[in-house]
Amino acid sequence: MRNFTGNFTQQEPIPQAGIEAAMRVMQHGRLHRYNVVEGEVAEAVSLELEFAAYVGAKYCLAVASGGYALAAALRAAGLEQGNKVLTNAFTLAPVPGAIANAGGVPVFVEVTQDLVMDLNDLQAKITSSGAQFLMLSHMRGHIVDMDALMAICDASGVLVIEDCAHTMGANWNGVPSGRHGAIGCYSTQTFKHINSGEGGLLVTDNADMMARATMLSGSYMLYESHAAGAPKETFKDISLDTPNCSGRMDNLRAAILRPQLTGLDLQGVKWNERYRRMEMGLRDTVGLRLILRPTEEYYIASSFQFTLPDWDKDKVREVQKRCAARGVELKWFGGDKPTGFTSRHDSWRYVDAQDMPQTDHVLTGLMDMRLPLTFSLDDCDLLAAIIREEVGAVYQADC
Ligand SMILES: *Cc1c(COP(=O)(O)O)cnc(C)c1O
Repeated sequence: MRNFTGNFTQQEPIPQAGIEAAMRVMQHGRLHRYNVVEGEVAEAVSLELEFAAYVGAKYCLAVASGGYALAAALRAAGLEQGNKVLTNAFTLAPVPGAIANAGGVPVFVEVTQDLVMDLNDLQAKITSSGAQFLMLSHMRGHIVDMDALMAICDASGVLVIEDCAHTMGANWNGVPSGRHGAIGCYSTQTFKHINSGEGGLLVTDNADMMARATMLSGSYMLYESHAAGAPKETFKDISLDTPNCSGRMDNLRAAILRPQLTGLDLQGVKWNERYRRMEMGLRDTVGLRLILRPTEEYYIASSFQFTLPDWDKDKVREVQKRCAARGVELKWFGGDKPTGFTSRHDSWRYVDAQDMPQTDHVLTGLMDMRLPLTFSLDDCDLLAAIIREEVGAVYQADC
């Protein structure tokens, strides 16, 4: 029995072009985005222009983190203190955290066994809550039928903000993730698709929303330097009415990110090769269900999920333990307490408890694994073989 010895949190190094660009910024010392000399375009501005072009958005703003982008998006879209915000019951802590930060009240929507928002429950919760905002989290890169979701939200006047922390570079039916809703938010934190340690990006075609987000991010009265920003007339009323809640991105991070953005599509192909190797290795494992991926979805699979449907908690825990003993780190969203990066709707105690039976059932059997690009295809074969053996051993012990 071979064990796995790879490191699940080891990302690739920053590309050489990014290291060199970062050195140039450090050598001239102008790290703040508004600190430029005559004729100079700040790295942050160049990144915004390039990212807007990449997703086909009119406007882009670079900020301090993905979570900051989400909270700023809600406020820029007009959320007021105490307003309800629909969101996935299965997502990570920065999502309800951003809603709370913006003064909103999360209303959870069930997820399906394929880990996307349940559109029947969405319709029901729109009706029962009267919420006017949806913060849709493409959790772990799984994209819901966006045409159906937008039809529901448009018909009810619900404004959609997309959390694309796991879908940068992905698309639904050719439309880039983040471009269906009013605002798309992305993260450039180390474990996402491009890595600046911390960082976020926000895109929209709505000039008023972009002007408000820009003021919120802490632009002072320097917003005219935002080449990918809203036209300066847009700021006329907004600039004095919007608080400055500092959350800018600096030129050092932007410099590191620009070459990574250029390489993102190719990285996506590599991630997906690894994902498909995992899928292949686990196909037809008794007791294990793979996640269905619709043909309209072009994903970038930086992580891998499967479920052990209808299994007892103890048995799922046993699989996790046995895999861990062989070097395979599976995260389990069904545990009683959140550990590491996992978290559950019922562990966010600042939100009123909500009954989510369907989501709880899915989470009880849900296993989640990082898939860093430092893993080879052979590594994926070994990972799948180990999971297959251990799932099989625990499953059979049961019969
Ligand atoms: C990481 C993450 C975020 C927020 O990103 P940060 O840059 O860490 O603030 C939002 N949503 C999900 C689902 C995430 O995993």
